Amino acid sequence: MTVAHDAMIRSLAGGFAMHFGKADDATIVMAPGRVNLIGEYTDLNDGYVMPMTIDRGIYIAIRKRSDNRVRVASVRYDELIEYELDNFSRPKPGSWSSYVFGVVEELRLRGLLDGGFEAVVDGNLNLGAGLSSSAALEVATAVSLQQVFGFEMDPVDTVKLCQHVEHSYANVLCGIMDQFACRIGKKDHALFLDCRSLKYENVPVALGDHRIVIVSSEVKRSLASSAYNARRAECQEAVEHFARLDPGIQSLRDVSADMVEENGDELSVNARRRSRHVIAENQRVLDAVAALRSGKLAEFGRLMIESHRSLRDDFEVSCAELDLLVRLAKNTDGVLGSRMTGAGFGGCTVSLVHKDAVASLTETLNTDYSARFDLTPDVFVLERNLEAGPLSLA
Ligand code: ADP
Ligand code: MG
Repeated sequence: MTVAHDAMIRSLAGGFAMHFGKADDATIVMAPGRVNLIGEYTDLNDGYVMPMTIDRGIYIAIRKRSDNRVRVASVRYDELIEYELDNFSRPKPGSWSSYVFGVVEELRLRGLLDGGFEAVVDGNLNLGAGLSSSAALEVATAVSLQQVFGFEMDPVDTVKLCQHVEHSYANVLCGIMDQFACRIGKKDHALFLDCRSLKYENVPVALGDHRIVIVSSEVKRSLASSAYNARRAECQEAVEHFARLDPGIQSLRDVSADMVEENGDELSVNARRRSRHVIAENQRVLDAVAALRSGKLAEFGRLMIESHRSLRDDFEVSCAELDLLVRLAKNTDGVLGSRMTGAGFGGCTVSLVHKDAVASLTETLNTDYSARFDLTPDVFVLERNLEAGPLSLA
């Protein structure tokens, strides 16, 4: 367990005691954030993804109440919000409470909550950095309520409920990958997910002397949501074009690279490029799963580098900062691969690095990236990825 993990538990216990009295009989639950190893912008095209949980996440201490009062405090936002369970009104979309109370309300509507509760929320995940702090917050809320109210809920149903909350309480039209990874991802495994059938497999991650290194660019992602919608529309344009040729085509998942070459002339330049990325990226995920299974880490790294090139040139969701982080990593001995991860225009990169190269990579990034952009990157090595669930306080 990381020190950060223990610090979180202490912070929660302290916060809980301050707001609600002694925390002895409170339950603590955590849900991790996730890093997407490969398969970017494929989830919204019914494709494949391979995210992995990380060792940072959202933590909740929670206890049932004997009345119908709901009282939840956020340590990070230093705010306590309360209401009567059956007197819900929607918080501002995207505020911390919209995720928490969105989940509470959806569970109440399903008849799964028979009273109130009190809870404290804290987290050590980078916010808005593409590590899915919002999904972790939704999943942590759902799992903590499941613990204290003792109801059964299939994990995939929890994933769908959390995605619905993100859509209709936070107004973010995300795919299903993030909630899936946060809820279902396992220790020492990456999650290979087919976003169409929702079939998934936890693939063992055995990296030997290599490490996954995550670097937050610290760029504010102001362009991300409008670009996200534009990319959705461009992919849709391509799907409609190809569906006219073959009515069986429902998404870019059903389109082959050859079809784009042979029948893509009437598409706009953008729609053609976006299609090229999505189709090739789906294949890269399949290849990366095979490489991981057979321990071919150099091949895995090569696929990461290809993925970045495709996101930069064909899907056009990278930015100068992410490109520099990837370039500096690629030029460091002992780095097998590096790519932007998440929606782009900022957020993080993920790299596969020999353990002896981590120190020199960190130093290079701290010096060269900071010199160019006047930003200090947050570089961290994924030591032990975590999984969603209750924590033992022993
Ligand atoms: P990402 O999911 O990529 O981190 P989002 O913009 O989707 O970025 O979600 C970030 C939002 O999630 C924050 O603005 C906040 O509302 C909520 N959030 C994240 N971490 C916490 C936390 N520790 N405590 C309370 N709310 C949080
Ligand atoms: Mg999010």
